[in-house]
Amino acid sequence: MLQALLIANRGEIACRIVETAKRLGVRTIAVYSDADKGARHIRLADEAHWLGPAPASESYLSIDRLIDVARRAGADAVHPGYGFLSENADFAQACESAGLIFVGPGPDAIRAMGSKRIAKDLMHRAGVAVVPDYRGADQSIDAFATHAAGLGYPVMLKPAHGGGGKGMRRVDRAEELAEALAAAKREAVTSFGNDEILVEKYIHQPRHIEVQVFGDTHGNIVHLYERDCTLQRRHQKVIEEAPAYSLTNEIRQKLQDAAIRAAAAVNYTNAGTVEFLVDTDGAFYFMEMNTRIQVEHPVTEMITGLDLIDWQLRVASGEALPLRQDEIRVDGHAIEARVYAESPDRGFLPSPGRIDGLVLPSGPHLRVDRGVDSGDVVTPHYDAMIAKIIVHGSSREEARQRLLDAVLEVRIDGVESNLAFLAALLARPEYQAGDVDIQYVDRSLGKLVAGDSAPAVEAVAAAALVLSSGQQAMPVVPSDPWDDRRGWQNNLPPRHISFIALPNGLSEVVLVSTGGATYRLEWNDLTIGLEMAEVSGKKVGFSLGGQRHEAIAVAAARTVHLISKSGVDRIDIADPFASSGGATIFNGEVVAPMPGKVTHVFVVAGQAVSVGDRLAVVEAMKMEHVLRAPIDSTVTLVHATAGQFVDEGTVLVALHLVPD
Ligand code: ADP
Repeated sequence: MLQALLIANRGEIACRIVETAKRLGVRTIAVYSDADKGARHIRLADEAHWLGPAPASESYLSIDRLIDVARRAGADAVHPGYGFLSENADFAQACESAGLIFVGPGPDAIRAMGSKRIAKDLMHRAGVAVVPDYRGADQSIDAFATHAAGLGYPVMLKPAHGGGGKGMRRVDRAEELAEALAAAKREAVTSFGNDEILVEKYIHQPRHIEVQVFGDTHGNIVHLYERDCTLQRRHQKVIEEAPAYSLTNEIRQKLQDAAIRAAAAVNYTNAGTVEFLVDTDGAFYFMEMNTRIQVEHPVTEMITGLDLIDWQLRVASGEALPLRQDEIRVDGHAIEARVYAESPDRGFLPSPGRIDGLVLPSGPHLRVDRGVDSGDVVTPHYDAMIAKIIVHGSSREEARQRLLDAVLEVRIDGVESNLAFLAALLARPEYQAGDVDIQYVDRSLGKLVAGDSAPAVEAVAAAALVLSSGQQAMPVVPSDPWDDRRGWQNNLPPRHISFIALPNGLSEVVLVSTGGATYRLEWNDLTIGLEMAEVSGKKVGFSLGGQRHEAIAVAAARTVHLISKSGVDRIDIADPFASSGGATIFNGEVVAPMPGKVTHVFVVAGQAVSVGDRLAVVEAMKMEHVLRAPIDSTVTLVHATAGQFVDEGTVLVALHLVPD
């Protein structure tokens, strides 16, 4: 076994690798940039070494720095994780040259699979069906026009050396080809330093199915079954599951065989994933091979009971694969959801900042892989993933329900998250039925995220019921269970007032109990009766004007999302006692919620402010964060000036809180 492993990565995957390495008795060496001082992966590892400044190019992407740290720390192996340098053949080569074991395939396999053209050539020769295409040396528009016509429109233009879904273009008509080709070439040069393009037949409404393969240095190759990663947003995976559930056994078998042939064609060692598109007729086409551990590997671990990082480390140290093909079994179904600090309601903009409160579910059939703890910061420098929630069930439907329940148990405060989006997706009848394709999420966004329009009275009523149950105002888990107000109550208080933030200001919502399960809602000059109202679990239901309304609530300190059959509504809460509008309050000090630029300061020292009044605006990641007075108070000091750049936590305004 290896002695000392440098983990050339961060976040949840670095934490994940540390766990297995420690179990195997391998010394773990973490690395970090300026943006990751004190990060969770450093806390878990046996030791941690500083790499460089926050930009990835000067830290996690710096081959020289990583090799230097590996040498100084006495590492004998390097695990690249996923992303960053994981599929960089030069890095694998540099490790080898420095006498370090690279935990992954050899540089040649990485290089071959890194080019879509070479990979498709290899697969074609190995007898694996590839997406029909033209990938020739003649890159003239005439050649493309002839071949595109032969393939039949629509077609897909792809950078031959690309990745990450960048630079791909769908072309619907011959007239659009020349312009699209020119644009694709320009983009390919900028992103990948090479303007070679290939044109593929566009596959209509396919599913994304991938096969996990593993090879060792003794010539053995096995597969660990398939994953279905059809749920993607802009070619980025959102929900992944295993095994593939939509295929006949015959096609599954063929995919597995094709994947093994693909791996054998490049004498593959270590973990790899062979990706296919499967069309509506069940025909499948090789798309690409990823030469690293995948984000979604836990669903494979859940159904096989194996530890893929353990296998990676064993194979890297020269051991044979732990199991033969006929010893690898599948049990049940697993699904993973990726939880991000981002705002689906605002075009999925990242939402970096400090996580004030983080409650993650635990229990049987459930696994959570996370890169942060409560109090940690999601930095704007890298991927904004908070955690992956993975569940297991005896059937797909059992797993789906468990994952939905688990997602609803997560509580994240301080940053925005995609929890409501995930819950809405998992609750959709099309997803439940498995009636989805790779464009499903993009096509259905209107039902998965909240729009800009002012909330309907039904949503306000549902939110008022949720707020009066005390669910939202709990940014951190209290240590004393008697203080835990997260539980839902069916007996709501007789009268409850909440404030919601609308585009034109704060709006008061009053819910008055009128006996039994009936309430009166007073909002915006409206007075409405609610009947048969109840809040139980995460569900809220009531009748309004004879019409029954039901929703699932996803509550955070400042928002409640209500998910119903018709879509998602978002209610922004102005809670005078918690925090407001992105401001974090410590003893009357309003601090910047994230690093950014102060664009406006609205108050001066001595000024009296009312709850909800604007104090300042901080702009970060192209988003404006309006910091509002959390309570009626007097401004005692103004530290911020417009134009100033501030760190997360910088005090902007101090308030003297006027007691009631
Ligand atoms: P990248 O390497 O940039 O990630 P891929 O070739 O893996 O690009 O494709 C990424 C995603 O784009 C796929 O998962 C699929 O959703 C979509 N896609 C790729 N090729 C096609 C095609 N020929 N027809 C339809 N969709 C495609």
